Amino acid sequence: MMIKEQLEEVRERVNAACLRAGRDPKSVTLIAVSKTKPAQAVQEAYEAGARDFGENKVQEILQKQPALPQDIRWHMIGHLQRNKVHQVIGKAVLIHAVDSLRLAEQIEQEAAKRNLDVDVLLEINVAKEESKYGFFLEDAEEAIRRISALPHVHIKGLMTIAPFVENPEENRGIFQKLYQFSVDINDKNIDNVTMGVLSMGMSGDFEVAIEEGATMVRVGTSIFGAR
Ligand SMILES: *Cc1c(COP(=O)(O)O)cnc(C)c1O
Repeated sequence: MMIKEQLEEVRERVNAACLRAGRDPKSVTLIAVSKTKPAQAVQEAYEAGARDFGENKVQEILQKQPALPQDIRWHMIGHLQRNKVHQVIGKAVLIHAVDSLRLAEQIEQEAAKRNLDVDVLLEINVAKEESKYGFFLEDAEEAIRRISALPHVHIKGLMTIAPFVENPEENRGIFQKLYQFSVDINDKNIDNVTMGVLSMGMSGDFEVAIEEGATMVRVGTSIFGAR
């Protein structure tokens, strides 16, 4: 199948999940995860209407961006090394995976130098998988409070990478926990923190994530094929 058709199929599944959950389909942003795929694949998805693209390496954003339409919104969805921060701020619209205080501080330092405002999500390792980055839920509020003091860094919500499972239903509880935590944080009205974005759900489980409140889903394989 072609990228255009696969993208349309994913969009239909997103819309159907929204309807099942009684949600407005406009409340969910589909991020087409183009990592490892050539610029031509991004161009095809762009022509089929996609505008939000996700990459997990700074280098790939830097390579693809100049060759592609300038109204593309690039999302940095992967683990970000501190020494790459200066290359990506101002290029990505949203950094999804702030997974340490030191990374947030580095973003602050680079953003301050250039007088930029940088929107970020805090990555949460809900299932406490050893192989994954991110804050544990019980440590996240403290981290949010500390990061909220950084004037150029703006927490817009949370992100998680759920465990790899055969049956997406197995991740429903993970998504519910993250949603509930975002509601709890929102209720605390912390300055410089909003919880409008919940980035959760990938090819294997995005419908369940939407049913549980995802506002951004990051879908690669189902749009671009296997990597
Ligand atoms: C690769 C990746 C995705 C997309 O995964 P698929 O299973 O191909 O849809 C989503 N989020 C992150 C952080 C990724 O690295």
